[in-house]
Amino acid sequence: MPRHISSSTIEEISNSVDIVSLVSEYVHLEKRGSGFWGCCPFHNEKTPSFSVSPEKRIYHCFGCGKGGGVIQFYREIENVSFVEAVEQLARKNAIEVIYDGVSSKKDDEEYAKARQFKEDMLDLYRRTAALFRYFLNETEQGKPVLAYLAKRGVSPEIAEIFGLGFAPEDRRWLKKFLAQKNYSNDFLAQSGLFSKNYPDVAFFSNRLMFPICNRNGQVVAFGGRILEGDGPKYLNSGDLPQYKKSETLYAFHLAKNQINRRKAVILCEGYMDVIAYHQAGLNFAVAPLGTALTEEQIHILKPFVDTFILSFDGDEAGQNATFRAILMCRKAGAVVKIVNIAGFNFGDKPKPKDPADVLLNFGAETLTSIVDNSIIDSDYLLSRLAKKYPIDTPDGKTKASLEFFPYIDVLPSDIQKESCLEQLCNTYGLSLQAVRSDFNRRDAAQKRTGPNGHTSESIVPDNPDIKKNAELRAMLAVVSNTEYFTKMRSMLSPEDFEEPAAKELFYALEECFREDVVSSDAILAKCENEKLRKLVSETVASDEFTINSEKTIEDSIALVHRNSLERKRERLMNKIRQCGGKTLEELQELRNMQYEKMAIDNELNVKDVTE
Ligand code: ZN
Repeated sequence: MPRHISSSTIEEISNSVDIVSLVSEYVHLEKRGSGFWGCCPFHNEKTPSFSVSPEKRIYHCFGCGKGGGVIQFYREIENVSFVEAVEQLARKNAIEVIYDGVSSKKDDEEYAKARQFKEDMLDLYRRTAALFRYFLNETEQGKPVLAYLAKRGVSPEIAEIFGLGFAPEDRRWLKKFLAQKNYSNDFLAQSGLFSKNYPDVAFFSNRLMFPICNRNGQVVAFGGRILEGDGPKYLNSGDLPQYKKSETLYAFHLAKNQINRRKAVILCEGYMDVIAYHQAGLNFAVAPLGTALTEEQIHILKPFVDTFILSFDGDEAGQNATFRAILMCRKAGAVVKIVNIAGFNFGDKPKPKDPADVLLNFGAETLTSIVDNSIIDSDYLLSRLAKKYPIDTPDGKTKASLEFFPYIDVLPSDIQKESCLEQLCNTYGLSLQAVRSDFNRRDAAQKRTGPNGHTSESIVPDNPDIKKNAELRAMLAVVSNTEYFTKMRSMLSPEDFEEPAAKELFYALEECFREDVVSSDAILAKCENEKLRKLVSETVASDEFTINSEKTIEDSIALVHRNSLERKRERLMNKIRQCGGKTLEELQELRNMQYEKMAIDNELNVKDVTE
């Protein structure tokens, strides 16, 4: 059941959250004129067409048309619901959320309970992480683990930054300890910290512990590495109420600032790699949790970066993960580079196998220089294919080409596609014409066999096109200057509008006025039609109606009024013509209609020539 957030809370957030500083958390903005500009986080672009107006408290992208106020921005960038956006913005800005009306008391209680549960869970994880740290640093049991970290070259400082810990060998200790702290069995059973079948037995034991944090730095889950004994090398928390692993990146809270500053991120295989990079001063490294990179994780990173630097293992699985990641990152419009440890010259010393190895045996400078010399993805792919397939046989050439084509598919521009096709030709000694026709043929075939035979564009639900006629212009003018709405509604009602989009805007404004929250953000939130929403935010952002607004609005109200009256008159005339006027009742009705028509004529100030 959707909860209803009071209009006062929405208004407070719209008015008090600074849109420039909120957007700046995700986008690099530069001041130009009265506004701020940056590259849009919602579509791929090289020159900024994304504007933020502190005065109007809105953002608008002239490239893709997205726009709105702080709540809309937060919703889109964080991919959360309206209610979540309001609540999270409120929390960040110390604003109290007031709920009203619609939701029942029972909903309120359930909701408060769910929220309390999540908060209690975060508290439990914070506490457990502290316990693990204590075991690592202050107990005898921790000593061999500290020795292991030292041997792997992890400094005590970096271990502290990452909050590393140790889960004690005694698998019943944690439960006993937490039970003393008044946690209920039921609550602990849901925490993911205990075995599902044996609720007194800790899930993690005798392991080096890596706390996993959300973007605010709160511990939400754990990964544990075994150092001795039997069991999987790594054990990780599954999804929890406070944690979705497909939507979380290890160390993102630590790396975020540097990622934003450098416009690049290093994506690596696991906890130890991330820690090694950070220790080497390359503290813009993160790792997906679990095996493969997800769309959600790219979505989290994309607003901050132009370049993804992939640093997965050199084995078959790592190489396949790299190929998948290249396609995903390219599809998101980023540049992709590959950290090439195997290709680096280490002299006659044995080649290190991962970043931690490089750091330990060759030092931070070498690791930095390897990252600086990362190779562009097309070079990486072609050299990998050349190793995989015999490039001097027709069969090898075909196989390599076919494997390279999906990469060309995801490149954003024709020039890039063309130059990569050329690169493929040069590597394999093929004629460009032949490769191009192969590529296109396969392309056409793939399109024919695509899902439901549709091209991607036809999947987008279409809104009927909006006619920007006099009615809509009148509404847009008022939306840009909401102080004139009182005047408008005294002269016009929704029935006066013929254009559905104009009518929808009128209703939206009407509702906003009734709720006493009149802001661009609130109006946009009430527009159901996507195209209309874009049009509104574009108009408000463009200053189209700021000059001579009073005159423009008066004229357009008058025009809409007149058009509406004319339509009414037309309808009346039709009725009058059709009215038989035979019975008394009919005569009476005819008379009424004629009076009504006279009144309209009076207002329109026209003489009816037919009379
Ligand atoms: Zn955009």
